[in-house]
Amino acid sequence: MSHTIYRCDACGNRTRFDVYESKRVRVFQHFTLGGDMTIEEEEVLDRAVERVVCRWCGSSTAVVAASPEASA
Ligand SMILES: [Zn+2]
Repeated sequence: MSHTIYRCDACGNRTRFDVYESKRVRVFQHFTLGGDMTIEEEEVLDRAVERVVCRWCGSSTAVVAASPEASA
């Protein structure tokens, strides 16, 4: 699955961000009769990035998504 690269236009940060994201997942939980549980499969049904905050300057409005190929 691809991921998004971010860039902060306020301070130039491109490496450190707090990403606030909500996810809806289907999880296959496999229980033993003894009560132990292992997750055997997890499928992301829906995900939404709500907010991305720059770790350097704390801005959330100046952060923009950039494509991985763009290196300028
Ligand atoms: Zn910043």
